Amino acid sequence: MSFAESVARAKGRVTIRTGAFINGAFRPSKSGETMACLTPIDGSELGQLSACDASDIDDAVAAARASFEAGHWRTMAPRAKRDVMLAFAQKIDDNAEELALLETLDMGKPLANTTRADIPLVAQAIRYYAEAIDKVNDELGPSPHNAVSMIVREPMGVVGAVVPWNFPLLMASWKFAPALATGNSIVVKPAEQASLTMLRTAELAMEAGLPEGVLNVVPGLGEKAGKALALHMDVDAIVFTGSTAVGKLIMGYGAQSNLKRVALECGGKSPQIVMEDCPDFEAAAQAAAWGVFYDQGQVCTAATRLLVQNSIKKDFLERVAAIAKDLKPGDPLDPDTSFGAMVDEAQMNTVLSYINKGEAEGAKLICGGERALGQSGGFYVAPTIFDGVDNKMTIAQEEIFGPVVSAIGFDDFEDAMRIGNDTIYGLAAGVWTSDIDKAHRAARTLRAGNVWVNCWDGSDITTPFGGFKQSGFGRDRSLHALDKYTELKTIWIELRK
Ligand code: NDP
Repeated sequence: MSFAESVARAKGRVTIRTGAFINGAFRPSKSGETMACLTPIDGSELGQLSACDASDIDDAVAAARASFEAGHWRTMAPRAKRDVMLAFAQKIDDNAEELALLETLDMGKPLANTTRADIPLVAQAIRYYAEAIDKVNDELGPSPHNAVSMIVREPMGVVGAVVPWNFPLLMASWKFAPALATGNSIVVKPAEQASLTMLRTAELAMEAGLPEGVLNVVPGLGEKAGKALALHMDVDAIVFTGSTAVGKLIMGYGAQSNLKRVALECGGKSPQIVMEDCPDFEAAAQAAAWGVFYDQGQVCTAATRLLVQNSIKKDFLERVAAIAKDLKPGDPLDPDTSFGAMVDEAQMNTVLSYINKGEAEGAKLICGGERALGQSGGFYVAPTIFDGVDNKMTIAQEEIFGPVVSAIGFDDFEDAMRIGNDTIYGLAAGVWTSDIDKAHRAARTLRAGNVWVNCWDGSDITTPFGGFKQSGFGRDRSLHALDKYTELKTIWIELRK
């Protein structure tokens, strides 16, 4: 089947919503403007998305505020709220096949990934925070005998969420699930490249019983809709996942407007460090390859810097290159494909220009390095490995967000830690060693929000996720995420008798 035929077949099996979802209903942008929604699988158009701007954001924030003040959700009994969210999670499960197809059509990651990971993990996140609703208690302070002090969590109010295209629905769910569980109303601005699953999910939430106005979704350009949301005077908190450059703007918007709370999950340039006493070279080689080729490298925690001890580097890189050479880009909609498309033409060109820069700066290309499947009309880049990379090179310092790994040699433990930490980012890091002392010392020395020992990307909804340094601040996932969506209030009651 040609790529075009498989896209046409998949389109027939999904519901494509293109309007903004405000106050429980879809509607076009007020300006009437639209933007083309293309699939990177073959470059064809899936529909015309509403290109919303500040006036649509005003409406969505007003709807969120009205629902918050009305209290239908905020003051709903905890168990009833939990049941709505559990029904919402069930809706995701019931429509998982469609959502997985939609995500793959919209942003080009393999259907195998959206089916096995993205969509089930969304249902898991909603369920996890649903269960927290009637299990997380407030606190009583150690007050004197004639007083009672209560420390209670209250919802922030209206939360704005600006999210990226790489895990479109999953990243959004890490925001909206804890925000909803704590009683907030929310406005989500999805990425222009991948808005479809979030729009469809808003309608599923309503079907599950979420009152109207509590979850609103406004598609549009970041510079218009995203900026308006972050600058809005009636938004109490803005939570963001995306690049560090835009994260800095978001922080500025918070300061320029109403000092709203800001939480940022930004980029990374994560080191995966393989010591000569690695306990399992085959597993480490698989992790080195999949740590950066999963979802075509469009992963914030991608292991883009492969630090290998010089004594084993040649053999180890041969193993990784063998895996990469076997990995052929294919039709993302084919369930057997494990390596799909870049999200769009611009991202493909960005990645190709970094590859050119790597070569120009003297790194040695040992596989990949070119566009693939050009005849499909889609946007594909072959898995790419550079050897002989100096950590000062552009490809070792800047986030490429594509399937490109830079191999860097090191002599000893101290050298590895120095290079590992020599980045503006601090999202993730990994170390492979048989020595428990070395493992522990590395885990404590590496300045990153996630450190993996003898694995890559071990994670769960129960553990916090976020970065050090310019990878941002605030944590998604786990019960710690509830802090982002709540204000602590102290209530002190003096007893009169
Ligand atoms: P961007 O930072 O370009 O965009 C993220 C979101 O911000 C999009 O919705 C975008 O809208 C919006 N935006 C862009 N400009 C503005 C603006 N001026 N004001 C308000 N909003 C704006 O990131 P990408 O979507 O390209 O995603 C890739 C990046 O996300 C990578 O850097 C990656 O590391 C990071 N990321 C981080 C994760 C983490 O948890 N740490 C997880 C996943 C990704 P528009 O649609 O117009 O671009």
